[in-house]
Amino acid sequence: MRFLVVDDSSTMRRIIINTLHKLGHQDVVEAANGREGIDRVTEGPVDLIITDWNMPEMNGIEFIRSLRAMNGQQQVPVLMVTTNAAKDDIVEALRAGVNNYVVKPFTPDTIREKIDAVMAR
Ligand SMILES: [Mg+2]
Repeated sequence: MRFLVVDDSSTMRRIIINTLHKLGHQDVVEAANGREGIDRVTEGPVDLIITDWNMPEMNGIEFIRSLRAMNGQQQVPVLMVTTNAAKDDIVEALRAGVNNYVVKPFTPDTIREKIDAVMAR
């Protein structure tokens, strides 16, 4: 199972990737913004995407809208990890095609629960 982690903060990518490794997921690719995220998806299939919202070049919402418009990418589970916690933001993210939502800061347990939830869909 291959994960894609998209975040402009290399520290946040490390935290998420370390959490994934601890959960037994070793196959992880990463990207620093939505445009690079699209590049990773184009290079080969991923099974679950964890993405930030606020990023330069292409933000998380633009990334998910582009992703959902790609052939075969309508169903890939997407978990958004962001500081944007307002209800309107969550609604916007869900409308763009996010499957679940984690507000930073988060605990490894929270990430694990949300990953389990999006994989169980
Ligand atoms: Mg960011």
